[in-house]
Amino acid sequence: MFDNLTAKFSSAFSSLRAKGRLKSGDIDEIANEIKAALIESDVALDVAEQFTARITERSLEKLEELNRGTNPSQAIFAIVNEELTAILGGNSRRIQMAKKPPTVIMLTGLQGAGKTSLAGKLALHLKKEGNTPLLIASDLQRPNAVTQLQTVGESIKVPVFAPEPGNGVGDPVAVAKAGVKFAEDNYHNIVIVDTAGRLGVDQELMREAIRIRDAVSPDEIFFVVDAMVGQDAVRTAQAFQEGVGFDGVVLTKLDGDARGGAALSILAKTGKPILFASTGEKVEDFDIFYPDRMASRILGMGDIQTLAEQAKRAMDGETTSRLEEKFAKGEDFTLTDFLAQLQAMKNMGSMTKMLAMLPGAGAIKKQIENFDENELVRTQAIVESMTPLERNDPKVLNGSRRARIAKGSGRQVSEVNNLVDRFSAAQKMMKQMRSGKGMPGMPGMSGMTGMPSMAGAGLPAPSHSKVAPKKKSKSGNPAKRAAEEA
Ligand code: GDP
Repeated sequence: MFDNLTAKFSSAFSSLRAKGRLKSGDIDEIANEIKAALIESDVALDVAEQFTARITERSLEKLEELNRGTNPSQAIFAIVNEELTAILGGNSRRIQMAKKPPTVIMLTGLQGAGKTSLAGKLALHLKKEGNTPLLIASDLQRPNAVTQLQTVGESIKVPVFAPEPGNGVGDPVAVAKAGVKFAEDNYHNIVIVDTAGRLGVDQELMREAIRIRDAVSPDEIFFVVDAMVGQDAVRTAQAFQEGVGFDGVVLTKLDGDARGGAALSILAKTGKPILFASTGEKVEDFDIFYPDRMASRILGMGDIQTLAEQAKRAMDGETTSRLEEKFAKGEDFTLTDFLAQLQAMKNMGSMTKMLAMLPGAGAIKKQIENFDENELVRTQAIVESMTPLERNDPKVLNGSRRARIAKGSGRQVSEVNNLVDRFSAAQKMMKQMRSGKGMPGMPGMSGMTGMPSMAGAGLPAPSHSKVAPKKKSKSGNPAKRAAEEA
């Protein structure tokens, strides 16, 4: 999403780094570069100007002090990081729960913004946190909105209150009201009201949203906005703020390749925080919005925290503790463990998205885009074609066994060889880690519970993969190199 911005920040800072001691002209120069990059990414002009003015002011104020330090450009980088985090909302805010359940959440926004999809994602997120959500189908306008909500509800096993068929039939206000009553009677502690949008802001839409709002007195009104629509997003947000009003923002389609500047302007323009982000069409493509993590991604430092959390979630508790125990006891990491990890990685979702969270991912953008998601499937097929003996002791893998495995998995013998070689290297790396020599490869990943070998064994990159298996060469890993430089 912010690729362009990340690239610009990165080039601005590398020229600043090359300068050593900084003069006020250098600060003006980087401020101008940042301003141009923000405007080009669709950030509203006044927001971009205020942002860079703050950076200039803070940097100039401390210029002498910064120049006394060992790394003045790093200090400027830290200021930019802080300001970027601030503009994205500072601290992340959680949903305000009602004192007396159910907590009523109302979703508003234009048609196609992703409200109905978001309703499902939010319900799943809340359910995982131990709540008992109910979805209310009050979008009775958009064709198939009701059935879409019912389908998503079914897939995540969250009940949907949908007494009306929709497609123009039924009173959305009455449905919302009856839905909240139903939730009270049936011990749902949270309701999510999906409302109708329109193609553009119009009076009728606002009136309907206001009537629903007044009928159910929501604890939270979330404005759902497609981050791909650029500057229009800010105008639409302001229209909704003046019309129905809202308490927080949900950004959708952050997986798209639009310039994303709207995200940076919305908070500044409406004063309302971004609470969640939607990053794809699947119901799991949903994240809590953390301003500091987003700033870190925009500045090319990756988002290791989110990655680690996803890894923890993906590994079931049993596998995690078994692996931790093995690791602690000094037992060998086997292909059976590797298989469990591959499964977990598949549970984590798209490899491309995960790789994009690594520090310095911008530098290997092309390779990430070319990453073949089916690689995991092929690798898994090879390991699954091995016998338990072979998985636990790959040394027994002679030529005929390798030929059998290749045949069984429908792959080439060279691919089997490649996997075994890579696995042996990863195993060696595990031993190094255990003996306290640290892990070559991705920084920060070694602390990931239950994923000790993720950096090496977890990334299957046989010969035809476009992401080169750089783990053997320390200096050749662009992600690592970029992180070291940062
Ligand atoms: P609504 O009219 O606001 O209820 O919008 P929908 O929930 O029906 O979403 C409109 C379209 O956008 C659908 O095709 C969704 O699958 C798609 N969509 C929703 N959220 C995202 C997202 O985060 N990323 C992508 N790529 N597509 C999304």
